[in-house]
Amino acid sequence: MQRGEGRYGPSRMENATEIGSTLAARPAHDNERLWSEGKAWRMTELTARVVKVMRERGMLPSFAAGTVLPLPAVNKVEFYPTFRCNDSCDHCITRSGPDREETLDPEDAATSIENVATFSVVARMRRLYGEGDFRCKPSVQCIELGRRQRPPAKLDDPLKKAYAECLQGKGNVAEWVTHSERIRLNYGRPSVRISGGEFYMWPFRLAGRKLSEDERLRHQSQLVGEIRFRLPDYDTWILTNGRFATSRDRADKVVGHWARNANSLEAGGRTRLCISVDIFHRPPAGGTVEEMLESIWRASHRHGLGAPFLYGISNNRIGYLGRAFEQFRVGVLEPHEIKNASCSTFNPASCMSVDPIDLVCQGGCREVKGFYFEHAGGCLLANNIVISPSGRMVYCCACLGDYGDFVNEPARCLERVVLDPVSIMLRRTETAIPFLETAVELDPTVQVFGAGPHPAVTASTCYQMMTGERIGSAVGRPT
Ligand code: SF4
Repeated sequence: MQRGEGRYGPSRMENATEIGSTLAARPAHDNERLWSEGKAWRMTELTARVVKVMRERGMLPSFAAGTVLPLPAVNKVEFYPTFRCNDSCDHCITRSGPDREETLDPEDAATSIENVATFSVVARMRRLYGEGDFRCKPSVQCIELGRRQRPPAKLDDPLKKAYAECLQGKGNVAEWVTHSERIRLNYGRPSVRISGGEFYMWPFRLAGRKLSEDERLRHQSQLVGEIRFRLPDYDTWILTNGRFATSRDRADKVVGHWARNANSLEAGGRTRLCISVDIFHRPPAGGTVEEMLESIWRASHRHGLGAPFLYGISNNRIGYLGRAFEQFRVGVLEPHEIKNASCSTFNPASCMSVDPIDLVCQGGCREVKGFYFEHAGGCLLANNIVISPSGRMVYCCACLGDYGDFVNEPARCLERVVLDPVSIMLRRTETAIPFLETAVELDPTVQVFGAGPHPAVTASTCYQMMTGERIGSAVGRPT
């Protein structure tokens, strides 16, 4: 996500992440041609100019010599060990599917978790406030959902909301407890969400050899164990589409492996399955969504996990990100006909939208990048990060940007988040909108897809700035 100016130089500008590159693998845009014809800036060059202008306008704080820099920490982790998936969905933000080969080597996966532990917000609390315990009491709503004995018959709106709130940790009460004081925290338990493609498919191939299901499950079990051991204060969410549950026995086997290390006493026991029941996902062959849920529910109870959490389309609307990044042809939520691929009445959706999410109309892109707080010695900047299947650290919405090699250089990745001018501007409310609008001001040929008072403030503008890739056509070179 580096934008060509600042400490790390322009080289990173060329590096859209592999996720960004995946999105970029769509029909070619003619940025380079337009640039060579003198009709437009390269986006990367434009970004450097925007940074310069923002600095001149006093919108980019600079760190004077001797400034105590914020201490970076890792809060939540979206952990993407693979893009392999046993389904293929149009809306998939990572474009995962049966043809994807990307997979994080198990050793690198374990090292990544170790690195998260080293820089975790809990480890930082210990350093700042002394030896103590991180305690977090879940909300009543969350406890009740975890105790459900059977899957609900339908995923209605109140239930979707309750599950979403629990996933976000809403209503949890957290404290840092030392021998002499209790410090009330205004953030909940951090988490690792194993996501990306389908965890059940990881690691699909190692050293050129395709792994059997048993081999994969052993690796999956070990990785969950590693997370529980290294990050006992973290919640672990295994996000799955549930398609492994082709029968009760199969569900029992897979969940049994995942649960084996999830609930060991010394490793803590805060692992939950989170089943995505969007209508776009097909149920296991020959089965139904309802049967799938029944099997996974039963297996979860049998192996000592709490009731699975369900994740569906909230409000029956979805920013259709995967396709939106390919097309970017409308500005504001455009309803689309959708096909109920799951053939289920469990989570029917009535409408959806194709849109580069409008940051203003939607009340922000809702990709919370983290938080910071001041302490006696300075400021702690706790970041929500994404770890990609190649071990790169990614940041911000839509999994764009590239902060470096998280397996081998985690400290450097986090330092970049602190110092990168674009990171600084995008994580501050007062600068995020001016940053995006300045891009359009400096280069009116940037295709703007939003509407209303701040048309530039859409994920489409973010996307162009982050990937360095121009979308759509341009007219006339900026002066
Ligand atoms: S099941 Fe999930 S990870 Fe797989 S293709 Fe669909 S949206 Fe992507």
